[in-house]
Amino acid sequence: MARLKLATAWLGGCSGCHMSFLDTDEWLLELATIADLVYSPIADVKTFPEGVDIALVEGAVANEENLHLARTIRRRSRIVISFGDCAVTGNVTAMRNPLGVALEVIRPVYLIPEGTTNCRLPDDREIVPVLLDRVQPLHVVIPVDHFLPGCPPPAARIRALLEELLAAHEPHPTPAQLTFG
Ligand code: SF4
Repeated sequence: MARLKLATAWLGGCSGCHMSFLDTDEWLLELATIADLVYSPIADVKTFPEGVDIALVEGAVANEENLHLARTIRRRSRIVISFGDCAVTGNVTAMRNPLGVALEVIRPVYLIPEGTTNCRLPDDREIVPVLLDRVQPLHVVIPVDHFLPGCPPPAARIRALLEELLAAHEPHPTPAQLTFG
């Protein structure tokens, strides 16, 4: 029987939502009996795989790398969850938006005092992902199936949503339905 493919992704966020996911504690062991974590910051997988059943996406879309990954996740996942307030509203990550477009925000940081010649903006695309002019919530750039707000969402609510989705994922039993001897 095919195992469920679960992924978690980390865009523009602090990783606190992932910490809350880990706070589901022993339930993760139950989850591991029916699901494989096929992509995650806590798994050493470089490429988002095809055929993902459920993807939890933490963080807002802040740079070109985030945008590319978000679109890849949408193409390759059946269910996408906007995971935490940064993904749902922009939240902390979007606090730079009122300060102007990306260049206006980073110029004072890298070129203080103005006119300094031995400072330069990070412009190596191979090393530093290019910032988008505006930070966007996840649903602005891709369709999402579920919203899981909170900063971070409590572990109990993460578990509750995943259990509901797992219950609808035939023919697998949910962790709650499994018996552990
Ligand atoms: Fe961090 Fe809160 Fe944003 Fe989650 S919602 S990434 S905990 S700031």
